[in-house]
Amino acid sequence: MFKRTLRRLSAMNSIVFLLIFVFFGTVIYGYVAYRFFDKVDESMFLKVNNFTVVNGKMVPQSRNRFFFDPRIFILIRDDKGQVSTIFPHDEDDMENLLELIAYALPYQFETRTIENHSYRILDIPYRYQDNILHTERGPIVVKSIIAVSIVDSEIAALRDLLIIIVSGFVIGMIIIIIAGYYLARRSMIPIQSSWEKQQQFVADASHELRTPLAVVKSNAELILRHPDHTVEEESIRVTNIIREVRRMTKLVSSLLTLARSDANQIEIKLGLVSANEVIENIAEQFIPLAEMEGLTLQVELSEQLELMADKERLHQLLVILLDNAIKYTPPPGQLLITGAKQGSNLVITVEDSGQGIPTEDLPRVFDRFYRGDKARSREKGGTGLGLSIAKWIVQQHGGKIGVDNKASGGARFSIVLPVKK
Ligand code: ADP
Repeated sequence: MFKRTLRRLSAMNSIVFLLIFVFFGTVIYGYVAYRFFDKVDESMFLKVNNFTVVNGKMVPQSRNRFFFDPRIFILIRDDKGQVSTIFPHDEDDMENLLELIAYALPYQFETRTIENHSYRILDIPYRYQDNILHTERGPIVVKSIIAVSIVDSEIAALRDLLIIIVSGFVIGMIIIIIAGYYLARRSMIPIQSSWEKQQQFVADASHELRTPLAVVKSNAELILRHPDHTVEEESIRVTNIIREVRRMTKLVSSLLTLARSDANQIEIKLGLVSANEVIENIAEQFIPLAEMEGLTLQVELSEQLELMADKERLHQLLVILLDNAIKYTPPPGQLLITGAKQGSNLVITVEDSGQGIPTEDLPRVFDRFYRGDKARSREKGGTGLGLSIAKWIVQQHGGKIGVDNKASGGARFSIVLPVKK
Protein backbone atom coordinates (compact mmCIF):
# COMPACT_ATOMS: atom_id res chain seq x y z
CA MET A 1 0.00 0.00 0.00
CA PHE A 2 2.80 2.39 0.91
CA LYS A 3 4.78 1.44 -2.20
CA ARG A 4 2.04 2.77 -4.45
CA THR A 5 1.71 5.96 -2.41
CA LEU A 6 5.49 6.33 -2.47
CA ARG A 7 5.55 5.97 -6.26
CA ARG A 8 2.74 8.47 -6.64
CA LEU A 9 4.35 10.89 -4.24
CA SER A 10 7.73 10.69 -6.02
CA ALA A 11 6.01 11.14 -9.38
CA MET A 12 4.19 14.17 -8.04
CA ASN A 13 7.38 15.64 -6.57
CA SER A 14 9.15 15.10 -9.90
CA ILE A 15 6.31 16.66 -11.88
CA VAL A 16 6.29 19.74 -9.66
CA PHE A 17 10.07 20.10 -10.03
CA LEU A 18 9.74 19.51 -13.76
CA LEU A 19 7.10 22.20 -14.16
CA ILE A 20 9.21 24.68 -12.20
CA PHE A 21 12.24 23.79 -14.34
CA VAL A 22 10.36 24.08 -17.62
CA PHE A 23 8.84 27.37 -16.51
CA PHE A 24 12.16 28.93 -15.56
CA GLY A 25 13.94 27.45 -18.61
CA THR A 26 11.31 28.96 -20.91
CA VAL A 27 11.40 32.30 -19.12
CA ILE A 28 15.21 32.49 -19.30
CA TYR A 29 15.35 31.44 -22.96
CA GLY A 30 12.51 33.76 -23.91
CA TYR A 31 14.02 36.69 -22.06
CA VAL A 32 17.50 36.23 -23.56
CA ALA A 33 16.06 35.80 -27.08
CA TYR A 34 13.97 38.92 -26.59
CA ARG A 35 16.96 40.94 -25.33
CA PHE A 36 19.14 39.78 -28.26
CA PHE A 37 16.63 40.53 -31.00
CA ASP A 38 15.28 43.63 -29.33
CA LYS A 39 18.63 45.38 -29.88
CA VAL A 40 18.98 44.19 -33.47
CA ASP A 41 15.36 45.09 -34.23
CA GLU A 42 15.77 48.56 -32.80
CA SER A 43 18.90 49.19 -34.91
CA MET A 44 17.14 47.89 -38.03
CA PHE A 45 14.05 50.00 -37.46
CA LEU A 46 16.01 53.18 -36.86
CA LYS A 47 18.28 52.53 -39.80
CA VAL A 48 15.40 51.89 -42.21
CA ASN A 49 13.68 55.07 -41.14
CA ASN A 50 16.91 57.00 -41.52
CA PHE A 51 16.85 56.77 -45.35
CA THR A 52 14.74 59.05 -47.54
CA VAL A 53 14.78 60.07 -51.22
CA VAL A 54 16.01 63.61 -51.74
CA ASN A 55 16.23 64.96 -55.32
CA GLY A 56 16.34 61.45 -56.80
CA LYS A 57 18.98 60.17 -54.39
CA MET A 58 18.61 57.86 -51.40
CA VAL A 59 20.40 59.63 -48.54
CA PRO A 60 20.69 59.04 -44.80
CA GLN A 61 19.18 61.82 -42.67
CA SER A 62 21.85 61.46 -40.05
CA ARG A 63 24.96 59.46 -39.53
CA ASN A 64 24.09 58.14 -36.06
CA ARG A 65 25.45 54.96 -34.52
CA PHE A 66 22.85 52.78 -36.29
CA PHE A 67 24.00 54.10 -39.58
CA PHE A 68 27.39 52.56 -38.95
CA ASP A 69 26.10 49.15 -37.87
CA PRO A 70 27.99 47.03 -40.42
CA ARG A 71 25.68 44.05 -40.11
CA ILE A 72 22.62 45.83 -41.44
CA PHE A 73 22.03 46.03 -45.18
CA ILE A 74 19.51 48.47 -46.59
CA LEU A 75 17.65 47.53 -49.77
CA ILE A 76 14.85 49.04 -51.74
CA ARG A 77 12.03 47.43 -53.59
CA ASP A 78 10.51 49.38 -56.51
CA ASP A 79 6.90 49.31 -57.74
CA LYS A 80 7.82 46.51 -60.20
CA GLY A 81 9.18 44.31 -57.45
CA GLN A 82 12.83 44.86 -58.41
CA VAL A 83 15.28 45.00 -55.55
CA SER A 84 18.58 46.86 -55.30
CA THR A 85 21.06 47.23 -52.44
CA ILE A 86 21.62 50.72 -51.26
CA PHE A 87 23.79 50.48 -48.27
CA PRO A 88 26.40 49.11 -48.20
CA HIS A 89 26.40 48.57 -51.91
CA ASP A 90 27.47 44.95 -52.23
CA GLU A 91 26.54 42.96 -55.31
CA ASP A 92 28.16 39.75 -53.92
CA ASP A 93 25.49 39.29 -51.33
CA MET A 94 22.67 40.24 -53.64
CA GLU A 95 21.65 36.70 -54.53
CA ASN A 96 21.12 35.63 -50.92
CA LEU A 97 19.44 38.86 -50.02
CA LEU A 98 16.97 38.60 -52.90
CA GLU A 99 15.92 35.15 -51.84
CA LEU A 100 15.54 36.33 -48.29
CA ILE A 101 13.31 39.27 -48.91
CA ALA A 102 11.18 37.66 -51.61
CA TYR A 103 8.37 36.95 -49.15
CA ALA A 104 9.06 39.63 -46.50
CA LEU A 105 5.86 40.92 -44.93
CA PRO A 106 5.49 44.65 -44.31
CA TYR A 107 6.14 45.92 -40.78
CA GLN A 108 7.09 42.46 -39.45
CA PHE A 109 10.39 41.32 -38.05
CA GLU A 110 11.30 37.86 -39.34
CA THR A 111 14.26 35.52 -38.93
CA ARG A 112 15.30 33.35 -41.91
CA THR A 113 18.21 31.00 -42.46
CA ILE A 114 19.93 30.53 -45.81
CA GLU A 115 23.15 28.59 -46.40
CA ASN A 116 23.93 28.30 -42.72
CA HIS A 117 23.51 32.00 -42.15
CA SER A 118 20.67 33.55 -40.21
CA TYR A 119 19.15 36.90 -41.09
CA ARG A 120 16.64 39.22 -39.51
CA ILE A 121 14.43 41.09 -41.99
CA LEU A 122 12.22 44.18 -41.73
CA ASP A 123 10.25 45.56 -44.68
CA ILE A 124 8.80 49.08 -44.26
CA PRO A 125 6.65 50.53 -47.06
CA TYR A 126 7.89 53.93 -48.26
CA ARG A 127 5.40 56.70 -47.38
CA TYR A 128 6.97 59.93 -48.66
CA GLN A 129 5.85 61.99 -51.71
CA ASP A 130 9.34 62.28 -53.15
CA ASN A 131 9.80 58.62 -54.14
CA ILE A 132 11.49 58.71 -57.56
CA LEU A 133 15.04 57.42 -57.34
CA HIS A 134 17.56 57.83 -60.16
CA THR A 135 19.58 54.66 -60.64
CA GLU A 136 21.91 53.22 -63.28
CA ARG A 137 18.83 51.43 -64.67
CA GLY A 138 16.94 54.73 -64.93
CA PRO A 139 14.34 56.26 -62.55
CA ILE A 140 12.41 53.86 -60.29
CA VAL A 141 9.53 54.34 -57.81
CA VAL A 142 10.56 53.39 -54.25
CA LYS A 143 7.90 51.06 -52.90
CA SER A 144 9.56 49.94 -49.66
CA ILE A 145 12.82 50.02 -47.79
CA ILE A 146 14.08 46.77 -46.34
CA ALA A 147 16.64 46.19 -43.60
CA VAL A 148 18.46 42.86 -43.40
CA SER A 149 20.76 42.05 -40.52
CA ILE A 150 23.01 39.02 -40.07
CA VAL A 151 22.16 37.48 -36.70
CA ASP A 152 24.49 34.49 -36.76
CA SER A 153 26.08 35.36 -33.43
CA GLU A 154 22.70 35.78 -31.71
CA ILE A 155 21.39 32.51 -33.15
CA ALA A 156 24.62 30.71 -32.14
CA ALA A 157 24.42 32.13 -28.62
CA LEU A 158 20.75 31.10 -28.37
CA ARG A 159 21.59 27.62 -29.62
CA ASP A 160 24.30 27.35 -26.95
CA LEU A 161 21.85 28.56 -24.34
CA LEU A 162 19.31 25.98 -25.50
CA ILE A 163 21.95 23.22 -25.27
CA ILE A 164 22.82 24.36 -21.74
CA ILE A 165 19.14 24.46 -20.74
CA VAL A 166 18.36 21.07 -22.29
CA SER A 167 21.42 19.36 -20.76
CA GLY A 168 20.65 21.10 -17.45
CA PHE A 169 17.14 19.77 -17.84
CA VAL A 170 18.34 16.19 -18.45
CA ILE A 171 20.82 16.27 -15.55
CA GLY A 172 18.27 18.12 -13.41
CA MET A 173 15.60 15.55 -14.28
CA ILE A 174 17.82 12.67 -13.13
CA ILE A 175 18.61 14.51 -9.89
CA ILE A 176 14.95 15.45 -9.49
CA ILE A 177 13.76 11.85 -9.88
CA ILE A 178 16.30 10.63 -7.33
CA ALA A 179 15.63 13.59 -5.01
CA GLY A 180 11.87 13.25 -5.51
CA TYR A 181 12.01 9.60 -4.52
CA TYR A 182 14.26 10.38 -1.55
CA LEU A 183 12.03 13.24 -0.36
CA ALA A 184 8.91 11.15 -0.83
CA ARG A 185 10.48 8.36 1.19
CA ARG A 186 11.42 10.77 3.94
CA SER A 187 7.97 12.29 4.08
CA MET A 188 6.46 8.80 4.18
CA ILE A 189 8.39 7.79 7.31
CA PRO A 190 6.16 9.63 9.84
CA ILE A 191 3.02 8.60 7.91
CA GLN A 192 4.12 4.98 7.88
CA SER A 193 5.05 5.04 11.54
CA SER A 194 1.73 6.59 12.55
CA TRP A 195 -0.10 4.10 10.32
CA GLU A 196 1.76 1.22 12.00
CA LYS A 197 1.00 2.69 15.43
CA GLN A 198 -2.65 2.94 14.51
CA GLN A 199 -2.65 -0.67 13.29
CA GLN A 200 -0.99 -1.74 16.52
CA PHE A 201 -3.54 0.27 18.47
CA VAL A 202 -6.46 -1.46 16.75
CA ALA A 203 -4.83 -4.88 17.18
CA ASP A 204 -4.13 -4.26 20.88
CA ALA A 205 -7.63 -2.88 21.46
CA SER A 206 -9.24 -5.94 19.86
CA HIS A 207 -6.99 -8.19 21.88
CA GLU A 208 -7.91 -6.38 25.11
CA LEU A 209 -11.60 -6.66 24.33
CA ARG A 210 -11.37 -10.36 23.58
CA THR A 211 -10.58 -11.42 27.16
CA PRO A 212 -13.56 -9.77 28.87
CA LEU A 213 -15.84 -10.89 26.03
CA ALA A 214 -14.67 -14.48 26.49
CA VAL A 215 -15.30 -14.24 30.25
CA VAL A 216 -18.81 -12.83 29.67
CA LYS A 217 -19.59 -15.53 27.12
CA SER A 218 -18.39 -18.45 29.25
CA ASN A 219 -20.18 -17.18 32.39
CA ALA A 220 -23.42 -16.66 30.45
CA GLU A 221 -23.15 -20.16 28.96
CA LEU A 222 -22.60 -21.64 32.41
CA ILE A 223 -25.70 -19.83 33.69
CA LEU A 224 -27.71 -21.21 30.75
CA ARG A 225 -26.70 -24.76 31.66
CA HIS A 226 -28.78 -24.49 34.82
CA PRO A 227 -32.03 -22.78 33.91
CA ASP A 228 -33.56 -23.90 37.20
CA HIS A 229 -30.92 -22.04 39.34
CA THR A 230 -31.93 -18.87 41.15
CA VAL A 231 -30.07 -15.57 40.60
CA GLU A 232 -28.64 -15.98 44.07
CA GLU A 233 -27.22 -19.38 43.17
CA GLU A 234 -25.61 -17.92 40.07
CA SER A 235 -24.56 -14.66 41.74
CA ILE A 236 -20.81 -15.32 41.30
CA ARG A 237 -21.22 -15.69 37.52
CA VAL A 238 -23.50 -12.68 37.30
CA THR A 239 -20.93 -10.67 39.28
CA ASN A 240 -18.19 -11.87 36.92
CA ILE A 241 -20.23 -10.71 33.93
CA ILE A 242 -20.93 -7.31 35.50
CA ARG A 243 -17.24 -6.85 36.38
CA GLU A 244 -16.10 -7.68 32.85
CA VAL A 245 -18.75 -5.45 31.30
CA ARG A 246 -17.57 -2.64 33.57
CA ARG A 247 -14.00 -3.24 32.45
CA MET A 248 -15.06 -3.21 28.81
CA THR A 249 -17.01 0.00 29.31
CA LYS A 250 -13.93 1.63 30.82
CA LEU A 251 -11.72 0.28 28.05
CA VAL A 252 -14.07 1.44 25.29
CA SER A 253 -14.38 4.89 26.83
CA SER A 254 -10.55 5.17 27.07
CA LEU A 255 -10.22 3.96 23.48
CA LEU A 256 -12.72 6.53 22.36
CA THR A 257 -10.86 9.31 24.16
CA LEU A 258 -7.58 8.30 22.51
CA ALA A 259 -9.13 7.83 19.07
CA ARG A 260 -10.77 11.24 19.30
CA SER A 261 -7.56 12.79 20.57
CA ASP A 262 -5.73 11.29 17.55
CA ALA A 263 -8.30 12.84 15.25
CA ASN A 264 -8.04 16.19 17.09
CA GLN A 265 -11.74 15.97 17.82
CA ILE A 266 -11.53 16.80 21.49
CA GLU A 267 -11.53 20.43 22.40
CA ILE A 268 -9.64 21.63 25.44
CA LYS A 269 -11.71 24.32 27.15
CA LEU A 270 -9.20 26.55 28.85
CA GLY A 271 -10.28 28.72 31.77
CA LEU A 272 -8.80 30.13 34.93
CA VAL A 273 -8.62 27.19 37.32
CA SER A 274 -7.62 27.01 40.96
CA ALA A 275 -5.31 24.02 41.19
CA ASN A 276 -5.76 24.04 44.99
CA GLU A 277 -9.49 23.53 44.55
CA VAL A 278 -9.08 20.68 42.03
CA ILE A 279 -6.42 18.90 44.13
CA GLU A 280 -8.35 19.29 47.39
CA ASN A 281 -11.56 18.00 45.78
CA ILE A 282 -9.77 14.94 44.47
CA ALA A 283 -8.08 14.31 47.79
CA GLU A 284 -11.49 14.42 49.46
CA GLN A 285 -12.78 11.78 47.02
CA PHE A 286 -9.75 9.56 47.31
CA ILE A 287 -9.03 9.65 51.07
CA PRO A 288 -11.80 7.12 51.90
CA LEU A 289 -10.74 4.89 48.96
CA ALA A 290 -7.11 5.01 50.08
CA GLU A 291 -8.11 4.22 53.64
CA MET A 292 -10.06 1.19 52.47
CA GLU A 293 -6.84 -0.06 50.89
CA GLY A 294 -4.84 0.64 54.05
CA LEU A 295 -3.14 3.77 52.64
CA THR A 296 -2.93 7.38 53.81
CA LEU A 297 -3.23 10.31 51.45
CA GLN A 298 -1.63 13.70 52.10
CA VAL A 299 -1.74 16.97 50.23
CA GLU A 300 0.96 19.67 50.33
CA LEU A 301 0.20 22.92 48.55
CA SER A 302 2.67 25.78 48.93
CA GLU A 303 0.39 28.69 48.00
CA GLN A 304 -2.66 29.68 45.98
CA LEU A 305 -2.03 28.10 42.56
CA GLU A 306 -3.97 29.29 39.56
CA LEU A 307 -3.48 28.40 35.92
CA MET A 308 -5.20 28.41 32.54
CA ALA A 309 -6.46 24.85 32.11
CA ASP A 310 -9.41 22.62 31.31
CA LYS A 311 -10.77 21.87 34.78
CA GLU A 312 -12.44 18.58 33.79
CA ARG A 313 -9.28 17.30 32.10
CA LEU A 314 -7.05 18.37 35.00
CA HIS A 315 -9.36 16.45 37.29
CA GLN A 316 -9.24 13.40 34.99
CA LEU A 317 -5.43 13.58 34.92
CA LEU A 318 -5.13 13.53 38.70
CA VAL A 319 -7.71 10.74 38.97
CA ILE A 320 -5.59 8.57 36.65
CA LEU A 321 -2.44 9.17 38.67
CA LEU A 322 -4.06 8.66 42.07
CA ASP A 323 -5.93 5.60 40.84
CA ASN A 324 -2.59 4.08 39.81
CA ALA A 325 -0.90 5.12 43.05
CA ILE A 326 -3.59 3.26 45.00
CA LYS A 327 -3.51 0.25 42.61
CA TYR A 328 0.24 -0.23 42.79
CA THR A 329 0.89 0.55 46.49
CA PRO A 330 0.50 -2.33 48.91
CA PRO A 331 -0.70 -1.51 52.44
CA PRO A 332 0.40 0.06 54.69
CA GLY A 333 1.51 2.88 52.43
CA GLN A 334 1.49 6.62 51.92
CA LEU A 335 0.38 8.70 48.99
CA LEU A 336 1.35 12.35 48.58
CA ILE A 337 0.18 15.08 46.22
CA THR A 338 2.20 18.29 46.10
CA GLY A 339 1.67 21.49 44.16
CA ALA A 340 4.07 24.42 43.86
CA LYS A 341 4.95 27.22 41.51
CA GLN A 342 8.28 27.12 39.68
CA GLY A 343 8.85 30.26 37.62
CA SER A 344 6.07 30.49 35.08
CA ASN A 345 5.10 26.85 35.63
CA LEU A 346 3.01 24.92 38.05
CA VAL A 347 4.51 21.63 39.21
CA ILE A 348 2.24 18.93 40.56
CA THR A 349 3.65 15.63 41.82
CA VAL A 350 1.83 12.44 42.77
CA GLU A 351 3.96 9.98 44.67
CA ASP A 352 3.45 6.71 46.51
CA SER A 353 5.38 4.29 48.65
CA GLY A 354 4.68 1.27 46.44
CA GLN A 355 7.03 -1.00 44.52
CA GLY A 356 7.93 1.71 42.00
CA ILE A 357 8.54 1.04 38.32
CA PRO A 358 11.49 -1.03 37.02
CA THR A 359 14.08 1.38 35.56
CA GLU A 360 13.97 -0.31 32.13
CA ASP A 361 10.19 0.20 32.00
CA LEU A 362 10.26 3.90 32.88
CA PRO A 363 10.39 5.14 29.25
CA ARG A 364 7.47 2.88 28.23
CA VAL A 365 4.88 3.51 30.92
CA PHE A 366 3.18 6.24 28.85
CA ASP A 367 2.85 3.94 25.81
CA ARG A 368 -0.61 2.72 24.88
CA PHE A 369 -1.49 -0.67 26.38
CA TYR A 370 1.80 -0.83 28.21
CA ARG A 371 1.32 -2.68 31.50
CA GLY A 372 4.21 -3.50 33.77
CA ASP A 373 2.52 -6.25 35.70
CA LYS A 374 -0.28 -7.50 33.43
CA ALA A 375 -1.83 -9.78 36.03
CA ARG A 376 -1.90 -7.10 38.71
CA SER A 377 -3.14 -4.43 36.33
CA ARG A 378 -5.95 -6.70 35.14
CA GLU A 379 -6.86 -7.77 38.64
CA LYS A 380 -7.15 -4.09 39.59
CA GLY A 381 -9.23 -3.25 36.53
CA GLY A 382 -6.37 -1.59 34.60
CA THR A 383 -6.48 -1.14 30.84
CA GLY A 384 -2.95 0.06 30.13
CA LEU A 385 -4.36 3.26 28.66
CA GLY A 386 -4.54 5.51 31.74
CA LEU A 387 -1.06 7.01 31.44
CA SER A 388 -1.40 7.52 27.66
CA ILE A 389 -4.49 9.60 28.33
CA ALA A 390 -2.65 11.43 31.15
CA LYS A 391 0.18 12.25 28.75
CA TRP A 392 -2.24 13.49 26.09
CA ILE A 393 -3.98 15.80 28.62
CA VAL A 394 -0.64 17.27 29.75
CA GLN A 395 0.51 17.79 26.15
CA GLN A 396 -2.76 19.53 25.28
CA HIS A 397 -1.94 22.02 28.04
CA GLY A 398 1.53 22.58 26.62
CA GLY A 399 3.12 20.81 29.60
CA LYS A 400 5.29 17.81 30.32
CA ILE A 401 4.84 14.68 32.36
CA GLY A 402 7.61 12.47 33.71
CA VAL A 403 8.11 9.65 36.15
CA ASP A 404 10.93 8.46 38.36
CA ASN A 405 11.40 6.26 41.37
CA LYS A 406 11.98 7.81 44.78
CA ALA A 407 15.15 6.88 46.62
CA SER A 408 12.97 5.60 49.45
CA GLY A 409 10.96 3.42 47.01
CA GLY A 410 7.71 4.15 45.21
CA ALA A 411 6.92 5.98 42.01
CA ARG A 412 6.80 9.77 41.60
CA PHE A 413 4.89 11.32 38.66
CA SER A 414 5.71 14.97 37.99
CA ILE A 415 3.60 17.27 35.86
CA VAL A 416 4.86 20.65 34.71
CA LEU A 417 2.12 22.92 33.36
CA PRO A 418 2.61 26.45 32.07
CA VAL A 419 0.52 28.95 34.06
CA LYS A 420 -0.23 31.15 30.95
CA LYS A 421 -2.35 33.84 32.61
P1 ADP B 1 -2.99 0.45 33.89
O1 ADP B 1 -4.39 0.49 33.54
O2 ADP B 1 -2.33 -0.87 33.64
O3 ADP B 1 -2.70 0.99 35.25
P2 ADP B 1 -1.60 2.79 33.03
O4 ADP B 1 -1.38 3.33 31.67
O5 ADP B 1 -2.31 3.66 33.98
O6 ADP B 1 -2.32 1.42 32.83
O7 ADP B 1 -0.20 2.41 33.60
C1 ADP B 1 0.71 1.69 32.84
C2 ADP B 1 1.63 0.84 33.69
O8 ADP B 1 2.50 1.71 34.43
C3 ADP B 1 0.93 0.04 34.74
O9 ADP B 1 0.49 -1.19 34.21
C4 ADP B 1 1.97 -0.14 35.81
O10 ADP B 1 2.84 -1.21 35.47
C5 ADP B 1 2.79 1.13 35.70
N1 ADP B 1 2.41 2.10 36.77
C6 ADP B 1 1.60 3.16 36.62
N2 ADP B 1 1.51 3.85 37.77
C7 ADP B 1 2.28 3.21 38.68
C8 ADP B 1 2.61 3.43 40.05
N3 ADP B 1 2.10 4.45 40.72
N4 ADP B 1 3.46 2.55 40.63
C9 ADP B 1 3.98 1.53 39.94
N5 ADP B 1 3.71 1.27 38.65
C10 ADP B 1 2.88 2.09 38.03
